[in-house]
Amino acid sequence: MSILSLNQENLKEFLKINNLPSFHLKQINEWVFKKNVLNFEQMSNLSFSLKEKLNTNLKISTLKLVKVECAKNNETKKYLFELEDKKLIETVLIIAPNRTTICVSSQVGCTVGCKFCASGKNGFFRNLKTYEIIEQILFVANDLKKYPSHIVFMGMGEPLLNYDNLIESIKILSNENFLNISQRRITVSTVGIVPQIKKLKNENLKINLCLSLHASNDEIRNKIIPFSKHFPLNDILNALKDYFETTKRDIAFEYILLEKINDSLIDAQNLYNLIKNFQCSLNLIPYNPIDDGDFIKPSSKRVEIFKKYLIDKKLNVTQRYTKGDDISAACGQLVLKSI
Ligand code: SF4
Repeated sequence: MSILSLNQENLKEFLKINNLPSFHLKQINEWVFKKNVLNFEQMSNLSFSLKEKLNTNLKISTLKLVKVECAKNNETKKYLFELEDKKLIETVLIIAPNRTTICVSSQVGCTVGCKFCASGKNGFFRNLKTYEIIEQILFVANDLKKYPSHIVFMGMGEPLLNYDNLIESIKILSNENFLNISQRRITVSTVGIVPQIKKLKNENLKINLCLSLHASNDEIRNKIIPFSKHFPLNDILNALKDYFETTKRDIAFEYILLEKINDSLIDAQNLYNLIKNFQCSLNLIPYNPIDDGDFIKPSSKRVEIFKKYLIDKKLNVTQRYTKGDDISAACGQLVLKSI
């Protein structure tokens, strides 16, 4: 059983049942979360009997590393993990000059089924537990030898469809007694699950919320994100306006550019009209081809024209340059070929 599957009360109880003093709880927390030590044996100030009890009953990481791939640029590393029930997930580390980001999975597979996404093509298996989300970060940070500056919930799965475990994870990540990562450096990406956006605004979190928009009307959006037919764009945007009013956190929009699907100048104009009244940023992502993909990556010229129109309109636009596409770790490429 993962030690992270026990809350602090459960851990106190564990110590009590084993006739061990409760001050060990603080020591264990410090080793696991502050020093990122993932092996009880290395916890030098714990007694032999405590280590023995911990080793017999608990694990710090239930994830089994199956494969690590490093992109040629050394800026992206992809980890394939096996969970206790043999299901597989992927986690990605992205290293940039002034930031390190861990991109975590929140589900095994995904129900949303975006047509441009490899994860969506494999269907959905189950939600990840809170400890399975946290373990991804502890493991990758241990490999990196430091905690990342940023966490993004943009790996496999739709985080808002695993709502309770997402919220609990964010609270553990940002708790000063645990990983102490600022909520302002945690981003949750969603295709727009309206009831959960409404709920999220009342959680009193300072995280970044990012809408995977990808189209400026329901017709195109429903084609490329089949799940989006449950939530019309108008309802999503209204929920985001309320979210901003309550949290005062800017909204981020992501838009994957697919040649001749959503990358024309008219699409840029429609996109501008849709989001111009938001305090927001827009991240453009030229499509990363996947196996059996139905789409084409737009030429740099088409991307530039699209981007220039929006910049000229004074939108805060960035373009995500592809990192890790040679190891299928770029946006939308996470895929479990072995399941
Ligand atoms: S892009 Fe995200 S939401 Fe869409 S299918 Fe892939 S993992 Fe799911």
